[in-house]
Amino acid sequence: MNIIAIMGPHGVFYKDEPIKELHQALEKQGFQLIYPTNSTDLLKLIEHNSRICGVIFDWDEYSLDLCSEINLLNEYLPLYAFISTHSSLDVSVNEMRMALWFFEYALSAADDIAVRIKQYTNEYLDNITPPFTKALFTYVNEGKYTFCTPGHMAGTAYQKSPVGCLFYDFFGGNSLKADVSISVTELGSLLDHTGPHLEAEEYIARTFGAEQSYMVTNGTSTSNKIVGIYAAPSGSTVLIDRNCHKSLTHLLMMTDLVPIWLKPTRNALGILGGIPKHEFMRQNIEEKVAATKDAQWPVHAVITNSTYDGLLYNTEFIKHTLDVPSIHFDSAWVPYTNFHPIYQGKSGMSGERVPGKVIYETQSTHKLLAALSQASLIHIKGDYDEQTFNEAYMMHTTTSPSYPIVASIETAAAMLRGNPGKRLINRSVERALHFRREVQRLREESEDWFFDIWQPEHIDEAACWPISPGEEDWHGFKDADADHMYLDPIKVTILTPGMSESGEMAGEGIPAALVAKFLDERGVVVEKTGPYNLLFLFSIGIDKTKALSLLRGLTEFKRSYDLNLRVKNMLPDLYAEDPDFYRNMRIQDLAQGIHRLIKQHNLSDLMLRAFDVLPEMKLTPHQAYQQQVKGNVETVEIEQLLNRVSANMILPYPPGVPVVMPGEMITNESRAVLDFLLMLCSVGEHYPGFETDIHGAKLGEDGIYRVRVLKNV
Ligand SMILES: *Cc1c(COP(=O)(O)O)cnc(C)c1O
Repeated sequence: MNIIAIMGPHGVFYKDEPIKELHQALEKQGFQLIYPTNSTDLLKLIEHNSRICGVIFDWDEYSLDLCSEINLLNEYLPLYAFISTHSSLDVSVNEMRMALWFFEYALSAADDIAVRIKQYTNEYLDNITPPFTKALFTYVNEGKYTFCTPGHMAGTAYQKSPVGCLFYDFFGGNSLKADVSISVTELGSLLDHTGPHLEAEEYIARTFGAEQSYMVTNGTSTSNKIVGIYAAPSGSTVLIDRNCHKSLTHLLMMTDLVPIWLKPTRNALGILGGIPKHEFMRQNIEEKVAATKDAQWPVHAVITNSTYDGLLYNTEFIKHTLDVPSIHFDSAWVPYTNFHPIYQGKSGMSGERVPGKVIYETQSTHKLLAALSQASLIHIKGDYDEQTFNEAYMMHTTTSPSYPIVASIETAAAMLRGNPGKRLINRSVERALHFRREVQRLREESEDWFFDIWQPEHIDEAACWPISPGEEDWHGFKDADADHMYLDPIKVTILTPGMSESGEMAGEGIPAALVAKFLDERGVVVEKTGPYNLLFLFSIGIDKTKALSLLRGLTEFKRSYDLNLRVKNMLPDLYAEDPDFYRNMRIQDLAQGIHRLIKQHNLSDLMLRAFDVLPEMKLTPHQAYQQQVKGNVETVEIEQLLNRVSANMILPYPPGVPVVMPGEMITNESRAVLDFLLMLCSVGEHYPGFETDIHGAKLGEDGIYRVRVLKNV
């Protein structure tokens, strides 16, 4: 961080000479100097180079307009205005708030000015570094020697072993030096919320619009359990999104709760539509309470916001309608909603407190922001008991937290602050929009087929597009609620040919798994693959080249597909899984083979039915797990699951949401759930390399999936 941009020269001696001297003096201070040709060039430079740490310019020539434009990019960046005795200096209060310093053009003043610029640069770097990270950097730079854990001792131990040296060289000195023990008192404590850790929490809460925030170093899986353990006492009833993350099932297994499911819709494409409005209404909940053994009025609710396919709720409606004392929005996938106006009113922390209710929002900082794996946050708005909450927090937190993860959570927050943060998120949104338009254009230009995108016809402006009822049918949801759900533009779902929005199967089709494999073999990893759709996330790390390589991957697929290449040439990794089977097969035969199989099973209808009637809850997940711990469990083939109580959660990928919970039984009424699972198994049986990953079921050497069920129940 040592680049300073200088606007000049000006062709007049009394200005150019002092700048020349300053150039040399700044170089002595360790700065690198660059000369943009005009203000447009300068602005572009700042936009593309986050390492620029100051701008020197002529006040007579550029003055305030340039300052304001730089401010829009980065309001913290120090600006150095050079004036002469003739310069007019009518600076308003507004400008005085900028990081703006004035110097006079004068010879032989360069060394002093350079020293001051160095000092202002240090203040700038200090200003943008958040508190915990700063304390950690300082600690590491001081190079103190400790006699505590971790045993690698700032990396020293590694260098005493050949293989250790390999490890050390790979990860680098600082990342090991920053891995310090909790006994370092000047860094405070994550578990006690003291010192720089406390400052970090406060800084993060201010950044994310929360009243309180907690940093969690082992994922939102843990954040979700912390919130649940605190919010729902043993024996109570909770409302839980049926399309929840498995960490919530684990919460239900750990603690004795009665779940009542909030049932989301799903369209024929298999896209999750979220929970309809009526599910949040009092009457609907009363009916479910009455129909569920041991259930009472729920004390807590958990809603996945956004859904896996990128649908966000009108959270204001839920907060005001849902009549429970605490509401938890699991927002693992959307830690950026506080930083772009299109997300207003669609996140847990947006809006004011709701009297009498506590709102929680959990986010995987690592999923779409720049943070190390496992970085997660819990945000809270409303009154809660801090001490009791902290017991739940500590119950799930290691006593040896990773400080690099803590620093990465805090830095992720710092990156989102101010105009640089807004720009960062805006760029993701713009990039996703651009990509969407490109695919649309290629589709329009294509003579026969091309991929489609799941989106409204007109996407001119950045917005979260409503899933509206009525005429518009791009989304394929029957009976959508008005003003309830919105598609996040950065979650891009690409549709492959084969199935219409209403679920009608075309004569021919290209199952999405083929495209996913093709892209994967070219280094583009798909987030989620449905039967005829693929999900891509345009997070802040997606740059133009990555977006382009995805686009190229899609066009290459089309070309190779149209040429009907051999599987061997087009998908060599797949071919390698079973060379005999794929020996002479061509890509179109493979696509049509799988497509026919899906058609035979009437997939779209099957999926709708599979998620329409839930299996019967015989035991709560907690009770079921206790049975399992006691050994009352046996393994059966998946086909024999009917009328047996499942010991585990069964969760096929895709769609990545549980279809059977521990303690549930598939009966004749919910038979479609089993048919759906069997169909997934069948595709894998017929086509090597297309086995579905079913969590909770084990695929044996003999090609049979087996599941665990409870004995004597
Ligand atoms: C990924 C995910 C989690 C778990 O987050 P980790 O940070 O991976 O532990 C929780 N909820 C949802 C909805 C998720 O997608």
